[in-house]
Amino acid sequence: MKPSGAFCAACKMPLGQGDLKFLVTINVMADFDGSLPANGRIEDLESFMRSIDKEDSKQLERDVYQSLGYILCPECKRKFLENPLGLRPDEEGAADGKVH
Ligand SMILES: [Zn+2]
Repeated sequence: MKPSGAFCAACKMPLGQGDLKFLVTINVMADFDGSLPANGRIEDLESFMRSIDKEDSKQLERDVYQSLGYILCPECKRKFLENPLGLRPDEEGAADGKVH
């Protein structure tokens, strides 16, 4: 097999050219529901807008939207899909969906 220079992002296994591999992309964006905080006053909003102006716009962009990509081998892809959020089995919403 010819090495492709790619590695599984999780287990670091080298992935050869033509090997089965999976690209996992994760898009995280701010979920703005259209309403401002109920207790927010206009003055607060104005100072908030001013503080945004001063912020590093790249940092602000990351806060609002972030896209990540990982190459995974078939085994790590399977594990990822079993528990994408890395929840512990005893936590609510764990991937197996069982209620204890
Ligand atoms: Zn892997």
